[in-house]
Amino acid sequence: MVTQPETPQESGFGSRFGTYGVMVTGGARGIGEATARRFAAEGAAVLLADRDVEGARRTAAAIRADGGRAEAVACDVADRTAVDAAVAHAVAAFGTLDVLVNNAYSCSNHSDDFSEEPDENWLVDLDVTLTGAMRCSRAALPHLAAAPDRRGAIVNIGSVNGLSYFGNHSYSAAKAGLISLTRTLAMHAARSGVRVNLVAPGTIRTPAWAGRESTLETAAGLYPLGRVGEPADIAAAVTFLASRDASWITGVTLPVEGGILSGNQGFMDALAAEFAD
Ligand code: NDP
Repeated sequence: MVTQPETPQESGFGSRFGTYGVMVTGGARGIGEATARRFAAEGAAVLLADRDVEGARRTAAAIRADGGRAEAVACDVADRTAVDAAVAHAVAAFGTLDVLVNNAYSCSNHSDDFSEEPDENWLVDLDVTLTGAMRCSRAALPHLAAAPDRRGAIVNIGSVNGLSYFGNHSYSAAKAGLISLTRTLAMHAARSGVRVNLVAPGTIRTPAWAGRESTLETAAGLYPLGRVGEPADIAAAVTFLASRDASWITGVTLPVEGGILSGNQGFMDALAAEFAD
């Protein structure tokens, strides 16, 4: 029986982002929501930029009800005009944009037969997940560079799929591209003091998995740490990379994945069974 370790909680934090303006794409729910809540709990003013504007408004209202500062804006990261407007909204509302979290994504179903793989999946997944992060970063960078005390930061949300094969062809390629974009932007922005890093989550219990509780249960048993991740696990890593504590960290990929990339337990078990014969 594995004892479930505690996950980071959403209250009782200090105010290390007290004067920060933060924009989170896909912030209406899941990892984006938890990240926005954590920034707000630590004092930041947060803009939830989501194509689900009703969901973003609900989440912003909930953050305000908890005493935080939050606004919502309709934004599809595939639309340059909407992205530019969302960044302008953050700057106008908060007077500063210090942190951008590129969290919105697209994950199309792949074809089991690669010869049947449709172009559309690739075009959509790359456009939203990879080019979307580029669009938001392009619009935000001048403002991040103007942030006080060289504290501007971008945190991209990648995936273990960008580091190893876990299925989802076009999504994985887009997430791998995001690792390259992270390094490119880190080099591009370093002289203006802006840091750019990426968090690569393993399986996280979010609404994306709604109705698939038994799949999450199965996945939990495959993780070395004995559970799937919670959105707060990712929020903790994102806020660390955005914070002063990470002021000499840029261009890195931080896997937050319960140990799943550390080894192949199935491979080891199969070999151990062979030796036992
Ligand atoms: P969810 O599907 O729960 O939430 C994603 C949010 O982003 C939704 O509100 C969604 O709106 C919004 N969104 C989707 N497309 C766009 C777009 N084009 N423009 C703006 N907003 C958009 O996602 P998760 O919280 O599970 O995942 C968040 C991030 O974490 C993603 O980058 C994902 O790849 C990554 N990740 C998640 C893992 C997991 O197991 N959950 C594992 C590894 C990585 P709508 O409701 O309209 O779709």
